[in-house]
Amino acid sequence: MVKLNNTKIQEKKYDPFIEATMQYERAANSLDLESWIYNRLKFPEKELTVHMTITRDDGKVETYTGYRVQHCTVRGPGKGGIRYSPDASLSECKALAAWMTWKTAVLDLPLGGAKGAVICNPPAMTEGELEKLTKEYTYSIKEIIGPNRDIPAPDVWTNARTMAWICDAYSRYVGHFEPAVVTGKPIEIGGSLGRSGATGLGMYYSLLEASKHLEYPLEGKRVAIIGYGNVGCSIAELLYPYGCKIIAITDIYGGIYNRNGINITELSEYVTRTKSVSGFKKYDSITNEELLRLNCDILLPCAVEGMINEKNADKIKARIVCEGANGPTTADADEILVENGVFMLPDILANAGGVTVSYLEWIQDLQKLFYSEEEVKTRCWKMMQKAFWDVIRVADKYKTNMRHAAYILAVQRVADSIRMFGKIGRN
Ligand code: GLU
Repeated sequence: MVKLNNTKIQEKKYDPFIEATMQYERAANSLDLESWIYNRLKFPEKELTVHMTITRDDGKVETYTGYRVQHCTVRGPGKGGIRYSPDASLSECKALAAWMTWKTAVLDLPLGGAKGAVICNPPAMTEGELEKLTKEYTYSIKEIIGPNRDIPAPDVWTNARTMAWICDAYSRYVGHFEPAVVTGKPIEIGGSLGRSGATGLGMYYSLLEASKHLEYPLEGKRVAIIGYGNVGCSIAELLYPYGCKIIAITDIYGGIYNRNGINITELSEYVTRTKSVSGFKKYDSITNEELLRLNCDILLPCAVEGMINEKNADKIKARIVCEGANGPTTADADEILVENGVFMLPDILANAGGVTVSYLEWIQDLQKLFYSEEEVKTRCWKMMQKAFWDVIRVADKYKTNMRHAAYILAVQRVADSIRMFGKIGRN
């Protein structure tokens, strides 16, 4: 709480880029990073703001604002999703781009970190309007993206269809079909098998390794999930047959709870029809805050940033928190959770399955040679497994928690590359 003019108490405002910078600074301090490298990585290399004007189906003309931020391209082309959201902002994009730099580095991928967004409300737009907006946005950022520059992917409220539109607009601009400009595309135009459920799959692999490390079998464990979009849904569909009891799920419209476990097969059918878990009559309803206070073993935040904060962190009873969303836990909340003995699987490790399979999609497009779904999954599993144990080794060495260790590992890898290139950077 910040005191203003002795009269008004103002809530501390959540700023994703400040959160991301704090996490980076802690790792930089532990590594005693040289100041020239520290400064290079503190700010994004490039921040582009664009405005797109389209005519809506009802004839109204509207202008939308979008961004593409490239945080670091030292280890390879920028990589990261594009989100469509009424709450998108430049600060959020900067944070998400930095998190992508650290995520690709934890996985040791030859890629950097970037992120894009358009401020809009997709549920209130038609397919045709979204196509127009996406193609205008692509045209506006065309000079800074490309298979060797920056490769977008899906994120909140964008999907394979959105990527197909970007691929189309970009291909027209360069004058030939260029599938490697985006990942998360439909299979018909060069997408990879296994990409759509990849983030959930990566979370599942991280949980399996954590369960080995902690000697904590997952069978029968009570799981609570915040967010039931692509990520929340795919991890639920993996943990349910594994024998976990999914006791609560919330999304933006509401939530459901059953202490004996939710039938995910039935729920998935319902959600496909209604687009929300809310109103699924068989179970009681529950809010996000109630879900966070539940007696559960594994908590999976799969929605947006900052949902676990200093107001609710000490209510969390889970043994493991596995972050499907980017930045779901604020720095203050993280401290409380670690203090309370919660094993945190941080976003830049836990949800890296998406970008790992994106990497596999990109290399398949570049070499025009495609893998079977089995091959994609095996490669993803091996890479996730290696990253998990790399982070454990750093955590042991620095006697620290998983998040700080993942940051140390990532910042170290990126800093090592910068050091090799020398002080005069390419950006
Ligand atoms: N949007 C996803 C993420 O935040 C995927 C990014 C990608 O595949 O490039 O990790």
